[in-house]
Amino acid sequence: MSIAGPTYLAFDIGGTKIASGFVTLPAGGAADDVADARPATSHERAIPTEASRGGDSIRERLTALCAEQLAWAADNGVEVSGIGIAAAGVPDSATGEIVSATDILPGWKGQNLYRAFAAVTDLPVHMVGDVGAHGLGEAGYGAGRGRGIVLSIGVGTGIGGAIVIDGRLFQGAHGVAGHAGHVPAALGEGFLCSCGTTRGHIEPVASGTGLRDLYNRRLEERSGGADSGGTVPAPAADGADVARRAADGEALARGVIEDSARALGECIGGMGNLIDPDVIVVSGSVVKAGPLWWDALREGFADSALPLVRPTPLVEGLLGGDAPLVGAAVAVHRSIA
Ligand SMILES: [Zn+2]
Repeated sequence: MSIAGPTYLAFDIGGTKIASGFVTLPAGGAADDVADARPATSHERAIPTEASRGGDSIRERLTALCAEQLAWAADNGVEVSGIGIAAAGVPDSATGEIVSATDILPGWKGQNLYRAFAAVTDLPVHMVGDVGAHGLGEAGYGAGRGRGIVLSIGVGTGIGGAIVIDGRLFQGAHGVAGHAGHVPAALGEGFLCSCGTTRGHIEPVASGTGLRDLYNRRLEERSGGADSGGTVPAPAADGADVARRAADGEALARGVIEDSARALGECIGGMGNLIDPDVIVVSGSVVKAGPLWWDALREGFADSALPLVRPTPLVEGLLGGDAPLVGAAVAVHRSIA
């Protein structure tokens, strides 16, 4: 039984929902001598992002949610030490401004959350990117716990990554470090990446939607051949659909899962060679695609990693959907500790 440490109010702002909850870190942080101590998350609330209403609307509803949560904390005697934010897009942790965002969040770029939160609270506020927060969570209290250099890769709707060194997020000169989806991969040539390129990035063929798109492209190519014979499967709805078809033994789906995971593994091998991490943590919906995916990922990694990097553990994340909230709490804790 661990002793409770400080409690932070955390937010995870994504494209479809804004999650919030109170995260109580164990006393002593992520120290090795309390290896089983886990953060406790309570009073979780979520509201839809309603991205199409624009960035101003998101900011206003976010700060309203913050005020509600703080009122609940005051009513229930919960002492809050600070506010941690895991934000979609590329946030500037120093100024609180969102410096870049995709078309999924119109008007999100340019929002300043530190200024917005200052209107409702005097508590210290610290913001990092959502993928960075995920990495901080896994590095502090998940699959990367106790390891010095953690490379965290998220494979879901998109692909992102984070580099955590001794408990701190490595953000790069422009806050862009860790964009693991935007590295070259021949398999991605001709597929439109979320960054705008069609020259061959890994994300459009290895994310969840990427698995679907790769499958449907091959299906189209196959059925384009005259008299292919037999029944042609319907296009896949999403990555999970492709994984299901592969588990059912469908050859086309199995080939897509294998090629996609292998290509991603090769990219991760390259990242491993560059960073030389102690552990590589892979999370997100796609890691549930099964052993076929994992085996191909590990093969691709082994093929591309240098001999000294090859034995690096490549493991599944442990925190699941709570990782960004936990990581946001870790981020603000670190910023004021
Ligand atoms: Zn890209």
